[in-house]
Amino acid sequence: MEVFHSVFLDEEKCKGCTHCIRRCPTEAIRVKGGKARIDEERCTDCGECIRTCPNHAKYAQTDSLEALQEFRYTIALPAPAFYAQFKFTIPLGKVLNGLLRLGFNEVFEVARGAEILAAEIVRFLQRRDLVLPVISSACPAVVRLVEVKFPSLLDNLLPLDSPLGVAAKIARLGALKKGYRPEEVGVFFITPCPAKVTEARQSGKGLGRIDGAISMASIYARLVSELHLVEDIPDLQIAGFKGIGWARSGGEQESLGEGEYMAVDGIHNVISVFEKIEVGELKGVVYCEAQACVGGCVGGVLAVQNPFIAKVNVNHLMKKYSVFRPWSEEEMETWRRAGVFARERVYEAKEVMKLDRDFQKAMEKYQRIEHLLERLPGLDCGACGSPTCRALAEDVVQGKAEEIDCPFLLRDNMLELAKEIYALASKVPQTMSGKRREDIGGSNSGPCATS
Ligand code: SF4
Ligand code: SF4
Repeated sequence: MEVFHSVFLDEEKCKGCTHCIRRCPTEAIRVKGGKARIDEERCTDCGECIRTCPNHAKYAQTDSLEALQEFRYTIALPAPAFYAQFKFTIPLGKVLNGLLRLGFNEVFEVARGAEILAAEIVRFLQRRDLVLPVISSACPAVVRLVEVKFPSLLDNLLPLDSPLGVAAKIARLGALKKGYRPEEVGVFFITPCPAKVTEARQSGKGLGRIDGAISMASIYARLVSELHLVEDIPDLQIAGFKGIGWARSGGEQESLGEGEYMAVDGIHNVISVFEKIEVGELKGVVYCEAQACVGGCVGGVLAVQNPFIAKVNVNHLMKKYSVFRPWSEEEMETWRRAGVFARERVYEAKEVMKLDRDFQKAMEKYQRIEHLLERLPGLDCGACGSPTCRALAEDVVQGKAEEIDCPFLLRDNMLELAKEIYALASKVPQTMSGKRREDIGGSNSGPCATS
């Protein structure tokens, strides 16, 4: 399957400082030739490198509002975290009307998709054949993390679409019902992160197609100065507290009601929990909400608001919009039949972390790595361009790097070389005069004397 990515490097800005290689959760970055290179097979688009880079050299490639021109009827899908960018005192009907003012013909809240999906998740969790804990599929960076780093947990992943996918499909169904042809309808997500841009790009050509992902930061910048001119249209806002809560960590599990659920946020925390699940140390949890960003989507790298303040905004909004508008069982059945909850992209294990497909060869490589590690300094300094000494050892064994990329091994090699040259120099042919041998260092009294 083709690999899509939305995180890119601006080579001009990259100073090769190695900050990003240490934070990448899948060790997908190496600094080569003074520039940070991303291994596309390993990258999860989590955005950690964008967050970390002091030189703003990493960026997410998103779409612009110009893309709306390609369609006759356009629908904006604002992420729940989008609401939290504004002061909670601003009515959501105003924010959503602001999106219409920017050129969209309709808005459909992803928060509404989330609360509808929550009902389907509760239904799914009643099955008897679950592989526990079921891991949420809402954060695409987490899904990709499982595919890349925890393939043994693939069966734990919730086999339902994300709130974004659900919202896109219901919104598109509505537009088709109004009489628009599929190619006339453009569905655009207002995204808090690059992982969701990638999810949009992988959404296929069917009902769940997402035609573009526009950065939350860019839309916010356009809207905020004009908001005082925008009228509040309360009817535009349908989602209640259950859906709005998905903007922050814990909101998803709360929307499922009472149960043995847990929430973990921050990609490195997620990795620690998944390691426990892998070895069977996490018991008594039925559902695991896992989000790559600290604090959940309010912490996305394309958000503008401080995530802690955004979280306060979400909590206030949840109180303010405490009404929950239900839907009919008939609607739910229609959505099920139309495939609204089904995932279009199946989960697949990436084999990038394996040393070799052949077990024997993998063992040999493992032993070579261990052997090389004994000679590496174990400082994990990053000066070689790899995040750790082990990562460099793996790269060397896989033919992607050389031992002398490590400055310590390079120094040792140079010392050895110097000794050899010195020894060679002392073997000047006896036909030459003794004075001449001393001139070129032929005595045995130097620091590299071999006695
Ligand atoms: S953090 Fe990474 S991308 Fe940014 S300047 Fe340093 S090496 Fe380059
Ligand atoms: S937690 Fe939310 S904002 Fe962060 S990567 Fe996942 S989906 Fe994107």
